[in-house]
Amino acid sequence: SDKPSKTYDIELIPGDGIGTEVVKAVMPLVRTVADQHGFEFETTRRDWGTEYYLNHGEMMPGDGLDRLTDADSIFLGAVGHPDVPDHVTLHGLLLPIRKGFDQYVCKRPNVLFEGIESPLRGYESGDIDFVVYRENTEGEYADLGGREHRGLAHETAIQSALFTRRGTERIIRAAFEAAAERERHLTSITKSNAQAYSMVFWDDIVAEVSEEYPGVTVERLLVDAASMDLIRRPHEFDVLVASNLFGDILTDIGAQITGSMGLAPSGNIHPGDEYPSMFEPVHGSAPDIVGKGVANPLATVLSWSMLFEDLGETDAADALWDVVTDQLADDAAPRTPDLGGDANTQTVVGDLSSRL
Ligand code: ATP
Ligand code: MG
Repeated sequence: SDKPSKTYDIELIPGDGIGTEVVKAVMPLVRTVADQHGFEFETTRRDWGTEYYLNHGEMMPGDGLDRLTDADSIFLGAVGHPDVPDHVTLHGLLLPIRKGFDQYVCKRPNVLFEGIESPLRGYESGDIDFVVYRENTEGEYADLGGREHRGLAHETAIQSALFTRRGTERIIRAAFEAAAERERHLTSITKSNAQAYSMVFWDDIVAEVSEEYPGVTVERLLVDAASMDLIRRPHEFDVLVASNLFGDILTDIGAQITGSMGLAPSGNIHPGDEYPSMFEPVHGSAPDIVGKGVANPLATVLSWSMLFEDLGETDAADALWDVVTDQLADDAAPRTPDLGGDANTQTVVGDLSSRL
């Protein structure tokens, strides 16, 4: 009677560097949590990334997206290699998946956990708790099919950005939904003073959509002011919505002020049923600590929590989130060096398992 009722298909792309280490390390923990909540999942592992690139000249096979498309969800570790330019890893794997599967919501929670010290003086547990909704399919990272180039006469490079009504409205709407659910407020990030076309268009859509959410207070901030205010008054933020580039930058600030890159989870979410979403820690492959076994696995555990949440397995999602919260709050618990401890990845995961 306790038989699992559901089996999900999860595609695993461990990737490179510490990505492979943390993805592997947390598997027993996430399987146990699934089992405790009456479901299981099958994983298909894809050894794509920079090693694949160095052998095959591409980050993933040409039919890579076709192989992933029927999955219930995708989990990615990290991609990156000192000998492979970042734009190759980005354009060869991450962007094709995000765009190909229309994962237009990049959701990045930033929470200062109890037991974690913020580099910002005076900030304690619970003081920082915001979530960034970053547009993930167009904006400044749009591929405008050849209009971009470098090497015109006099070495001119052109890089434009694309803001469509559909793309802009849907990320803004997703952020309003989140703000309504959290019963707090929304901050829309732009640079409307300098970018008088795209960002004014964005502002207009925020104003329109806000009429449908009378309960949500809206604040508008220029990205430069927002960068300052995330340092000066992070406790006042709740839901932030930003374009692809601005969201990218602000979420790195968010990860730093909440303690460590090793704690920041993210989801690339396709809210419909047509394609799978993809979850990944915010950090990269961290070549400086690869092979030492000391990568912090917590961002990966929290990203699995977001994956379970997205599947509708809310209790399992909460269980993973809570066990991380519990461990961090215990000052006797093992910690990896990025959090000031001397424990390795395995020890931290083992301790999490013992707290389930
Ligand atoms: P990539 O090129 O893949 O982005 P990176 O060197 O930029 O790799 P990041 O993940 O962006 O690596 O992280 C920057 C630094 O933060 C790393 O070099 C590492 O020292 C530290 N770091 C990142 N993630 C973790 C983690 N999970 N555990 C411990 N330290 C981490
Ligand atoms: Mg990096």
